[in-house]
Amino acid sequence: MLKNCDNMKEALYYKKLNNDSVQCLLCPKLCKIKEGKSGFCGARQNTGNKLFSNIYSRISSQGMDPIEKKPLYHFYPGKLILSLGTIGCNFACPFCQNWQISQDRNVPTQYMPPSEAVEKALERNSIGIAYTYSEPMIWYEYVMDTAKLAKKKGLKNVLVTNGYINEDPLKELLPLIDAMNIDLKAFDEKFYREICKGDLETVLKTIKISSASCHIEITNLVIPGLNDTIEHFENLVNWIAENTGANTPLHFSRYFPQYKMKTSSVTPIETLEQAYKIAKEKLKSVYLGNIMI
Ligand code: SF4
Repeated sequence: MLKNCDNMKEALYYKKLNNDSVQCLLCPKLCKIKEGKSGFCGARQNTGNKLFSNIYSRISSQGMDPIEKKPLYHFYPGKLILSLGTIGCNFACPFCQNWQISQDRNVPTQYMPPSEAVEKALERNSIGIAYTYSEPMIWYEYVMDTAKLAKKKGLKNVLVTNGYINEDPLKELLPLIDAMNIDLKAFDEKFYREICKGDLETVLKTIKISSASCHIEITNLVIPGLNDTIEHFENLVNWIAENTGANTPLHFSRYFPQYKMKTSSVTPIETLEQAYKIAKEKLKSVYLGNIMI
């Protein structure tokens, strides 16, 4: 466990319970956390009957990426963005493509306070900062403080997220956010509950609320045998068209076996082409990603 230091910041969304526990109110898991313990995501711990973010200025990964890599294709195309990630996640997807930092809590990290992140973005001629690689919603306090500073300096703030956050913290953060890529992992409640350990309803709510506040693009990782039927693609596309509109860009991403899920195979190109065809009937901008030809 981390000692109380600059990597620790008191959490913004929690309440104290009657015993020596606190309850995190950041995401729908609503973890009840006893003294000395952490919540499901590993990023928030009860110390002295207060809840702290233990990843406040901890950076596991950084890069100056083309904005298209997020992927965002309709937000400052051709520009670079400073991309920062931490560790931990509030999902537990066995197919995670970034499991080394999302699920392994002992990854080495570098200290980078918000002021340094903003300086870095300014020095390197970036359009702003993308909070990405692992799940930024559980990095809430750091994202909030860094995004405030970045905004003051005229930089853009971008989230690449699973969308699993409660409505109040989301609404508090959104005025600082310029663009988001939100994963819609499957249009299937069972998939979210059993495989990701989350829920579809929350993610759909996040997509809807965010689309009214900033630019959004949606990514669907297509996994053979799990979310690759015609009916699934139709349901997903219909929901997007009806709820965020035909102008919402949609990225179908090719799956490669990773982490614990070794049984599924690489997504066939034909499946992605089928998804593309279905989506193009309702949406103006559809893309296929992760394809190495
Ligand atoms: S953010 Fe983490 S600690 Fe808080 S409720 Fe979600 S999983 Fe639990």
